[in-house]
This record gives sequence, C-alpha cells and structure tokens, in this order.
Amino acid sequence: MSAATVTVQCAVAVDQAYTYLVRDGMELAPGDIVAVPLGPREALGCVWDEPAGPVDARKLRPVSARLDVPPLNKRLMEFVDWVARYTLAERGMVLKMVLRAPDVLAAEKPVTGVVWHGEVPERITPARKRVLEHLAEQAVWPKSALADVSGVSPGVVDGLIDAGVLERTDLTMKPVIAQPDPEHASAGLNADQAAAAGKLAERVRTGTFGVALLDGVTGSGKTEVYFEAIAEALRCGRQVLVLLPEIALTQDFLDRFARRFGAPPGEWHSGVSGRAQARVWRGVACGEVRVVAGARSALFLPFADLGLIVVDEEHDPAFKQEDRASYHARDMAVKRGHIGDFAIILSSATPSVESRANADAGRYAHVHLPERFGGAAMPDIGLIDMREGGPERGRFLAPKLVEAIAQACDVGQQSLVFLNRRGYAPLTLCRRCGFRFECPNCTAWLVEHRFRHRLVCHHCGYERPVPPACPNCQATDSLVACGPGVERIAEELAEFFPDQRIAVLSSDLIPGIRAMRALLEEIAAGRVDIVIGTQLVAKGHNFPLMSVVGVVDADVALQSADPRAAERTYQIVSQVVGRAGRDGTPARAFIQTYVPDNPVLQAIVAGDREAFYARELEVRKRAGMPPFGRLGALIVSGRERQGVQAYARALKGAAPRIGEGEILGPAEAPIAMIRGRYRMRLLVRTARHVDLSGLVRGWLAAAPPPTGGIRVQVDIDPVSFL
Ligand code: ADP
Ligand code: ZN
Repeated sequence: MSAATVTVQCAVAVDQAYTYLVRDGMELAPGDIVAVPLGPREALGCVWDEPAGPVDARKLRPVSARLDVPPLNKRLMEFVDWVARYTLAERGMVLKMVLRAPDVLAAEKPVTGVVWHGEVPERITPARKRVLEHLAEQAVWPKSALADVSGVSPGVVDGLIDAGVLERTDLTMKPVIAQPDPEHASAGLNADQAAAAGKLAERVRTGTFGVALLDGVTGSGKTEVYFEAIAEALRCGRQVLVLLPEIALTQDFLDRFARRFGAPPGEWHSGVSGRAQARVWRGVACGEVRVVAGARSALFLPFADLGLIVVDEEHDPAFKQEDRASYHARDMAVKRGHIGDFAIILSSATPSVESRANADAGRYAHVHLPERFGGAAMPDIGLIDMREGGPERGRFLAPKLVEAIAQACDVGQQSLVFLNRRGYAPLTLCRRCGFRFECPNCTAWLVEHRFRHRLVCHHCGYERPVPPACPNCQATDSLVACGPGVERIAEELAEFFPDQRIAVLSSDLIPGIRAMRALLEEIAAGRVDIVIGTQLVAKGHNFPLMSVVGVVDADVALQSADPRAAERTYQIVSQVVGRAGRDGTPARAFIQTYVPDNPVLQAIVAGDREAFYARELEVRKRAGMPPFGRLGALIVSGRERQGVQAYARALKGAAPRIGEGEILGPAEAPIAMIRGRYRMRLLVRTARHVDLSGLVRGWLAAAPPPTGGIRVQVDIDPVSFL
C-alpha cells in the first residue's frame, strides 16, 4: 500500500514544492499551512496544488503539523506563482511574504477560565475556603488569576474543577471588529466628483477585472471619490485593500476613513505590532476584516474575497520593493485584480507615465477630476533663476523666497521649504588638504548630520563622529560643509526668522511613527510656522494653512542619469507645490533652479500637465523606453572587483539575441560599491511584447553559475538605476 503524500512549497528561498508523507488521521488540502522538516530545521510551508515528482518513498519525511490558520485560497496561490515567475524571485520567498505576520502562526494563547454556580464542595480546606471567598465576590475568573489572588497553587483550582464545583470556560479575548458601514456619512460630492464616483462604483459593481486611473490635481477630492467605490464594494459584500505609499504617515487617512465609514480600516505596515498584524491577517483570511489600508506588503494578505484594490499615489516609487523579491506593488496589484477578477483603481495627481499611457491607449479607464474642491486655486508658481536671483555665497535661499516666507509669517500662514536631502551637508572636506570624508564600505560621501554630530553613510548606515581635526593633515578648524541638506536650510531660516516656530520633517530626526504623526498633527493645526522637509512632505498631507512653498533645488533629480529623471522631477515638484493653498487661500510657490528653460519645469510653471505627458511619452517612444519597451536590470556584486568584472563579462557573453532592443553594459554601477560589495550593472531593453522574465530566466540558466560569493540580482521593470 502506498502512503499518502502531498507537495509542500516551503517559505524559504527555493522554487519548487517538495513531497512529504501524510500521517494517518491528518487531512490536508491545497492551501493548508503546515510545518515540515527541511534539512535539520522545521520550515513553514503551504500545501501546493502540484503533482509530486518522482521521489524515493523511503526518504520521505512526514508533515509535522497542520497549523490552525485559514488555508490560502487558489487565487492567492496562483498570484504567488505568477509574482515568482515575473520577478524571478524564488516562489518560496514570495510565499514568505504571504506568511510573514510573525505571530499568526502561533495561534493566540487560549485563556482558561472558571465559573462558579454556587455549589459548595464536600471537603473544605483553608485553601479551598480562600478560593470560594473570591468566587463569592466574582463568579468568573481566569484560572491562573484566581489561584494568584487566593494565594493557592493552580492545583487547588483544578481540584475544585474535578470535584464538579467549578466549570471550565474559555476566556480568550475575541476582539470585536467594528465593521465599516458604507452608508455611515457619505460626503456631498460636487458634480465632477459625483460623476467620477459613479463611474468607479459601476466598475466595482460589475465585479470583473478592469483598471481605472483616477486622475485629478492635488486637493480635487480623489480620496472622497474613491471612498464611494469602497462603499460600493462593501455593499456588494466584498473586501477592499487600499495601498498607501507611506502608511506610517497617514493617520490622516485612517481618521478620514473612520469619519466616512464609522470604523477604521485594518492597518498593515511595519509599524503595527506583531499581535495586531496577526489579527489583521486572520481577520482578512476569515473575511471578518473588510477593509485594510496598508503599505505595499499588504498586497500579499490572504483576503477571503477581495473585490477592490485602490493604489493611492500610484506614481510613488515607494511602491517598488528592491530587496530579495523585487516587485512593484502597483503592477502586482493589477495582476492580483486580473487573477481575482475584480476592479483596480489607481489614484494620483501626477500619474506615472506608464499608467497615463495605458489610459491614453484605452487599456485603463481614465476618470478625471479637473479642479480643486471648493474653488481652491492651485498656487501661483514661479521659477527663481539662481544665476541671477540667487542668494549670497554660502546661503541657499533666494531673497525672493525669504521675502514670501516673511509675508506669510506676518499674516499667520505657514510656509513649506522642500529639499530632498537629509542631514546638514552632503559632503564635508578639508579646506587645507582637500581631504573628503568617504564611506569605507560604499562609493559615497559621508553626510554630515550636525544635530547629532555624526558623519553618516546613507547607503549602509556607517557612522562616525565629526573629528576635531582633519584625519589627513591634522589641521583644526579646516573642515567645511559643502552644499545644503535640510538641517542647513533650517539653520539658515532660523537666522532669518528667529521668532518663528520651525520644524524639520526628515525621517532620521524623528524617533518613530508616533512622533511623526504627532508632528504632522502639530503642523496641520498651525502650531508650526515654517516646515522644512524631505520627500516625506510631498506625500498626500493636508496642511490647510500652508500658503508658501519653496523648492530649494529643483535640479537635483533632473541631473541624474535615471531614465525617469524628468518624470520624477515633475511628480515631486508638482506634489510639493500641491501642498499649498488647499483651503482656498491664495498661495504661491517658488522653484529655485539653474536651468529655468528646462521643459519639465516650464510645464510645471504653466500648469500644463498635458505638455509634460505629451513630451515625455514622445521621448520614451523614440528611445523604446517603458512603457513602449521593457527594461530589466541585472546587478552583479561581490567582494572583489576583478571577479565581479569577469563574471559580468561572462554573463554578457551568455546573453541571448535580442531582436528589437539591446543589452547595455556591463558598466560599473553609479554607486560602485555598497556595503563592501562591488557592483556592475547590465541593462536589457526589449520590445513591449517580449516575455522579458522568461528571457532573463533563460539567460541566467545559460550563463556559467556564479562562484566565489558573487551574486546576481534581477530587477524586472527597475525604478532605481543606482
Ligand atoms: P486629493 O486626494 O485629490 O488630494 P482630497 O480627497 O484629500 O483630495 O480632498 C482635498 C480636501 O477637500 C480635503 O480636505 C477634503 O476633505 C476636501 N473635500 C474634497 N471633496 C469634498 C467634498 N465633496 N465635500 C467636502 N469636502 C471635500
Ligand atoms: Zn556606506
């Protein structure tokens, strides 16, 4: 008789499912979560719907246990499979993202309680007497607590249970999950909003796959509008996922959701405690949690019946994950909708060029909100040509901008100064000998963080104190800071405005999510006059009193070699500018630049988004770049430069023939070393219709296997080119 077997995909870096024995009495079906022996350890896995390969039955080991968690459904398993194939991550690593709620798998510890119905035991001891005294006051107790207060051993309580005096009961807390109510408090939408909401709700109602791009300027009410689509999904009895690029900062979103639906959504991101994550995980799996708002990793939650995904700020690069499994949550969300056959909404004031092209081509429905809500105007935007209107040497804010901030302060309004650079100065050098502080592990300058008196590498986290003298020539007082970071801008503003309340919004200066949320509330409430911020401030916040925005250096991103430099600049500058004037007060924005004729900046100033997209699409089309072509990056890294170079060349040698397209490189990566590893990049560009993942998989299989600690990282649809 042949023993029963199953195939199990383990949640570790392997691509295929392994075969295991099933012990008598254990019932297993595809989707079940199990513990299995793997080498010397136990691993988590999922029973996979795959025929067992040929195996030696004598070597098979049995499944250790079936975990008490809801099984994964078929659609989610298909999604895991697809993501693995597309990104070239091992299927087990993608499964790991599904199973990663830390405490889920350790089922919640049951709490045993006891109830007393008034019976008295035949035999009364002093210990039993003390227990009964407490029971006389309160008839239901957690068992251990009853023993504790009575000062007896748990055995005494057990004895009373055995004697039939006490009855056992389960006191495990089952949290009551407040259900969002679609009819709770819907906003009175204006005509444009109502039309947009109607279109989105209709798409949700049909219950089939389709993507809508909700495209409207900052402050046009996109959130209010997609709330109506969420309401519709709830009415249809289905679950909803809202992906946000920076959930840690979106208390505002949770509050708004609760006002609209009478209950907050489930929250999912790295700042949520393990226990709370476990509740959300189980809650979505059994269908009790109806809506989740989360970071990109929420995409892998095991929803029982997902009926809508909203990707808010869909253009945001934070949706791209670049560790082991490198995926873009927006694109994967579209695929999850495709597999599950439900609606997707991508929302943005500055849609990605990809999404915009899909809308233009009719692949996505284009739902447009043309104006700000309540007649609020967009800020009046002007460029400051730093070649003529710049500040004196050693300063970074043009007089015109400082003047505007002063005027805002005079009338009690707020100003926002944006610079996407943490720290005090991006480079520190010795005036005497020219020595520059460089990271020992990376090809990068150390960034001075003056508030903390440290020099820090932004790539690997290496830090050292600022030394009193130059480490090279021992000169004292010779170190100078070159260029500005937000801390230096704060210093400059404090000199101009000693009496104003100034806050710096930069991730490294704020100890945690809570502090960050508190600071954002302070700002929104008007208890800060001038805000200096990194890209954190560009994301979706509502600051009603903000009436002046200054962009310190619009050229930072423009000058990078990144093929998306123009798009990034357009998005981030538009988003920052869009923070101002949201309550209807006339607002002004100032963009400092050395290239005022740049067409991207010109399009922003003219408020001509169509000009930007038309031009950018044309540029991409001519170059065969996404979305007209496809890109994949292969990053070869290792401890020794020569080995890395040799392997990268060998990899190039094994490359397949690309019809329409090319393979660029290998070239040293712009950051040639990170964490002590040398890096070379190859970039492959193909036509749009090519199965790029398949092509790269075949390529790697044909290449000699890397040795000597060399790694090849694959990044399909890369977003970063560093
Ligand atoms: P977006 O997401 O497009 O930037 P929001 O949805 O955040 O816009 O709306 C901007 C502001 O206008 C918010 O304070 C919001 O509460 C308000 N608002 C938008 N639409 C309405 C409406 N129909 N009724 C009341 N307030 C609205
Ligand atoms: Zn470093």
